[in-house]
Amino acid sequence: MKSVPSPSKSPTIASSGIQLRPEIPLCQTDLPLDWYQAEFKPYAEEYLALPDRKPGTIFPWLDRYVIPAQEHFGDSLLLLAHFYMGGEIVKIVERYGGKVADSYQLALQAARNPEKKVLVESAVHFMAETIATLAADDQTVWITNPKAGCTMEMLAKDWMVLPAAEQLIERYGSKLAVVAYMNTGGRVKALAGRTNGAVCTSSNAHLVCDALRKEGKTIFFVPDHHLGRNTAWKLGMDLARVVAFPEPKLWIQNPRLATLPGGLEALDRAEMILWGSYCGVHTIFSKAMVDWWHARGWKVLVHPESPLEAVQAADGAGSTDYLWKAVMNAKAGEKLVIGTEGHFVRNAREQARQRGADIVHLADIPDPKFQGGGCGCATMSRNDPPHLAGMLDLLRKGKAPEINRVLAGDVVDEQTAARERLDVNERATLVKDAKKALERMIAITEAAR
Ligand code: SF4
Repeated sequence: MKSVPSPSKSPTIASSGIQLRPEIPLCQTDLPLDWYQAEFKPYAEEYLALPDRKPGTIFPWLDRYVIPAQEHFGDSLLLLAHFYMGGEIVKIVERYGGKVADSYQLALQAARNPEKKVLVESAVHFMAETIATLAADDQTVWITNPKAGCTMEMLAKDWMVLPAAEQLIERYGSKLAVVAYMNTGGRVKALAGRTNGAVCTSSNAHLVCDALRKEGKTIFFVPDHHLGRNTAWKLGMDLARVVAFPEPKLWIQNPRLATLPGGLEALDRAEMILWGSYCGVHTIFSKAMVDWWHARGWKVLVHPESPLEAVQAADGAGSTDYLWKAVMNAKAGEKLVIGTEGHFVRNAREQARQRGADIVHLADIPDPKFQGGGCGCATMSRNDPPHLAGMLDLLRKGKAPEINRVLAGDVVDEQTAARERLDVNERATLVKDAKKALERMIAITEAAR
């Protein structure tokens, strides 16, 4: 397998800076026992029987499974988690020497650490699949819970997006380039590669789209219409030349380009065409929420998966990495509102409080008209301590379930965990195309550093 150019100028993942405190419980809501795969139930039963969720209780239990696995695999084992995980996994993964990062940094971990042969990821499936796409043949990637999907990606499966892309390619030929946000499966990333497009993340979407725009491409941005629109705005595009697909569930009922808003005429004038998916966590943020906090003297930062009106009203918008740095650099007395995933903000609040800064969630407004927001990413939090303990123990024993192994091109049903896997030749083709799109993103991002 061809190696990926090393993004040598980019820093290795630094510690998140999260500090554990003995009196603060580690856990979010426990999962019901019947949510666990059969192989993981014994670990879940033990975990659920623990008297509390404090570090002094959880870590001695976890040590029984994690430490033998670390001793067994030595330096070849790498634990990974995303910042949006429930607080306990972020803290646990760091405590055992693993890495916590945003999706861009996670994607690079196999390629950047060739000595790591067993990569265990506690985040959503597309992130593990991206790591697997860039992994060498002697590296294996595992997800602690294969049902941990991303709702945005679930509305942009290949069978939904490919028919739309085929119609666009038929109409615009090689002028059309697909930009696949990291929150897509490998099959959609491969589509980006085939159209000479690229993958992007929330931190480099503007760089990627700008580079393609300079080549005169019409961009088909998949899947998040908010991030696509925010990127167009950031680049100063005429938003009248940005056309969005309707909700994917509506589109697939009548999948013809002529049904898009403004019809074919608007489409032909478009600089950017947006798939209609979104993140349920971020899509609820509004200008009214931002204004509420501004009126009370708070500074507001949001993630660019939020609607444009919220991004325009906020004091800043950026990726999880941008938001985390803002929190960790917040000074004593600073009052910061963060509009992103709930677990992230809860972790941020805990850490900032220790330095005298005040962090609140954008949706955490004591007014009934704003109720219903502030959620965590429920699907990502399907990875919890019993899943991590079980995964590592089963790997050490050579009994890891194959369903937890992640290969490029895998499509998993998040309800049933049924998986569709490509054959070897199909996978090799997909890896080649998806890598092309990932490498393009890496090249554009590293060139801008
Ligand atoms: S927070 Fe939203 S976009 Fe991120 S993984 Fe969860 S569902 Fe997907």
